Amino acid sequence: MADFANTFRVFNQTGQAEEGRILSAEDAAREATGEHDHQHDEHMRAALEIARRGMAAGEPPVGAVVVREGEIIARAHNSVVSQLDTTAHAEVVAIRESCQNLRALHLDGCDLYSTVEPCPMCLSAGFYSGIRHIYFGATLADMEAITGSELTGCSLGAADAIKTGGVLREECLELLNSWRPLKI
Ligand SMILES: [Zn+2]
Repeated sequence: MADFANTFRVFNQTGQAEEGRILSAEDAAREATGEHDHQHDEHMRAALEIARRGMAAGEPPVGAVVVREGEIIARAHNSVVSQLDTTAHAEVVAIRESCQNLRALHLDGCDLYSTVEPCPMCLSAGFYSGIRHIYFGATLADMEAITGSELTGCSLGAADAIKTGGVLREECLELLNSWRPLKI
């Protein structure tokens, strides 16, 4: 317990660590009961480590790890440059590797840690893969302040401008209707 009282770290609501404030004894005791907070830190540090490795290799510095029962089952950094693949965001790559490693389409009981809030594509990938929960460090708004082009919650509607529906809809729908979804 004494260790916690001496720590300089606090946690905000999203689980991000914030530096610079000394915890009160009361807050420290509260944090001491939060074993998960420390696991979150440990996993996010692993994500940061791979993000740094990616940046050193010329990629955007975003890293992600997938964790099941406390064990990291996949880790990846953004690889859009080396793979010439604009979908190779860290979270997507980590999810792909997790599915390969587990030989499964559904990542039951798995949590994803990303150094940056997932973009809509990665959030969707998490949803479709059955990720249990996503923990992130910096926000997409933080990222947008640097890159100038992110689909944040406020601007998600902007993506509608690049889509048009109804092309051969009947044929596409007919194919869908002839299919029985796999129970996986
Ligand atoms: Zn993404």
